[in-house]
Amino acid sequence: MTKEFKRNSGRKPEEMRTPIKAEVGIIPNADGSAMFQVGKTIAYASVFGPKKMHPQHLQNPAKGTLRCTYNMLSFSVNDRIRPGPSRRSTEISKITEWALEPVLMIDNYPNMVIDVHINIIQADAGTRCAGINAAAMALAHAGIPMKSIVSSVAAGKLDKTLVLDLDKYEDSEYDEGEGSTDIPMTFTPDGRLTHIQVDGKITGKQLKEAVELARKAAKEIYEVQKKALKEIGEE
Ligand code: ADP
Repeated sequence: MTKEFKRNSGRKPEEMRTPIKAEVGIIPNADGSAMFQVGKTIAYASVFGPKKMHPQHLQNPAKGTLRCTYNMLSFSVNDRIRPGPSRRSTEISKITEWALEPVLMIDNYPNMVIDVHINIIQADAGTRCAGINAAAMALAHAGIPMKSIVSSVAAGKLDKTLVLDLDKYEDSEYDEGEGSTDIPMTFTPDGRLTHIQVDGKITGKQLKEAVELARKAAKEIYEVQKKALKEIGEE
């Protein structure tokens, strides 16, 4: 009999962190807003717009523009981080746009921009996924036409074992055997991928298994998001 793989946190390989929480309509000044939390990672998203794009040369007459700004707040990690944009935050902002664009119907907003500000107030890895989850709910709350929302989660590998939802220790400090691989992914409710990144080494077979693992977990996240959106709708 093979021994059950032990994670530092005591979680089973296919277990996400807890709690998983979502709340919609938390920032009154925004046109749409939401919070998503998984374990110790907490993301807030606020949506402003659609509004006229300025400066004018950035306007697209063919369709509206989604502009995401991801920001990890100084106090979100133990060692205070330097405020302001970085190469990492610019990359994650772009990835967030790519993960959300396939479900957004913004053809009807030529020359307009929809701004999504994502602030990570506490970071323990998986912040891009939490940010995407919060942003999807905030866009729906703002009444932006969407085919559906999206749900994001990472799967990965610790040494040889496939795991779900890596925390900071697993993402950056785990160094046994083959080390760790982190694969953030985003899915539509019917299981189609809108975003996948692979950070580390993995075989084709294991990658397929990791996608299946995350696809199942994304469905659970979707239920939490849907419930939060329904609750605000009923208020
Ligand atoms: P993600 O948060 O989407 O997993 P990364 O893999 O880049 O993205 O980061 C993993 C984790 O590392 C973050 O969630 C955060 O806890 C930590 N981290 C990232 N950048 C910094 C930084 N500049 N200073 C301290 N911790 C950081």
